[in-house]
Amino acid sequence: MADKPHQNLAIIGHVDHGKSTLVGRLLFETGSVPEHVIEQYREEAEEKGKGGFEFAYVMDNLAEERERGLTIDIAHQEFDTDEYYFTIVDTPGHRDFVKNMITGASQADNAVLVVAADDGVQPQTQEHVFLSRTLGIGELIIAVNKMDLVDYDEDRFEEVRDEVEQLLGRVRFSAADTSFIPISAFEGDNISDRSDETSWYDGPTLLDALNDLPEVEPPTDAPLRVPIQDVYTISGIGTVPVGRVETGVLEVNTTVSFQPSDAAGEVKSVEMHHEEVPRANPGDNVGFNVRGIGKDDIRRGDVCGPAEEPPTVAETFQAQVVVMQHPSVITAGYTPVFHAHTAQVACTIESIDTKLDPASGDVKEENPDFIKSGDAAVVTIRPQKPLSIEPSSEIPELGSFAIRDMGQTIAAGKVLSVTE
Ligand code: GDP
Repeated sequence: MADKPHQNLAIIGHVDHGKSTLVGRLLFETGSVPEHVIEQYREEAEEKGKGGFEFAYVMDNLAEERERGLTIDIAHQEFDTDEYYFTIVDTPGHRDFVKNMITGASQADNAVLVVAADDGVQPQTQEHVFLSRTLGIGELIIAVNKMDLVDYDEDRFEEVRDEVEQLLGRVRFSAADTSFIPISAFEGDNISDRSDETSWYDGPTLLDALNDLPEVEPPTDAPLRVPIQDVYTISGIGTVPVGRVETGVLEVNTTVSFQPSDAAGEVKSVEMHHEEVPRANPGDNVGFNVRGIGKDDIRRGDVCGPAEEPPTVAETFQAQVVVMQHPSVITAGYTPVFHAHTAQVACTIESIDTKLDPASGDVKEENPDFIKSGDAAVVTIRPQKPLSIEPSSEIPELGSFAIRDMGQTIAAGKVLSVTE
């Protein structure tokens, strides 16, 4: 697996349209359900007198696990195709998809949008497509699922395809090079092999479309940025910050700066998977020893960068936000907690500058009094404590954030510009 290029894949779409089932199906058909899980299910099937092992039995177990609140959690949800090695990032509904997508371990490169053939486009289909646009997801593959429930009817497939094409057009995703695939996650149609049930269809299977995704170039040429997750003191070594390299290359014998704590020191060693390495690349989780700083000089939420090109600390910043769920209205002065990379900082929305059409991004209103669920807007934000954040056009990995309040993600956004 490891020698294939890597992709982070999101499975998005309306609740109950079949995202978890599709994940189970993909893991199963690519042989990625771990052996011990298969073994366990096989034994259980035999005990219950259900001879043989089949996909439905895996899915039943996954459904039970979900009912027990565990959600689908077989191994790490990783699978590989001929071309790529995929990690599935949190799917919507699982814990907090949006927040994880922005601040979590992995931002999605591309996504599969699941739309049930019987239901068609639903509110969350729309919301997730808007969010994909805001968060900069590369390509969408459209899986029209549950084709078995509509008798594999071509006309119904075309209707759903038209609905989705309209939606994509509104957010300026080009529908021209988007694959629309009629599938049944449950029955396994058009996942790895072309199905006899859809003889009218001559396009790619889902695995073909996944193989055809463009390769993701790791952002090694961008300046180094490592959001810090933790800081340790290790006896005999010294201060060891830990984090994931988002962009650039972390190398020994270079001088790095931590912002907003404003501390600097020389990288003496870099460790990854308990082994010393001379350098670390984007995506690598590392601990690194820095000479010249103490444990209390830096903290979680700092960003490490080259001393000559240190991470930006924002006095204020302007951002484009999408309000997903807020029980009332958002006005200037509102001060919720912003989650950006590993930082959590209360920030005040100083002004709501323009209200946008959430689909096209066109300006709808200047200086509106408030915004509410479903709205998109450009706002000016003042962090209540120093916060390191970057314009998304320069370093997308450090240019997005989630706004949390009342225990849920109420909005997501990307940084347009920063005033230092
Ligand atoms: P999620 O909420 O999007 O993750 O949806 P689930 O994967 O939990 O599926 C919701 C329901 O639809 C479950 O009862 C699944 O068994 C069913 N389902 C999913 N895919 C298919 C399909 O291709 N055909 C049929 N008939 N049912 C499906």
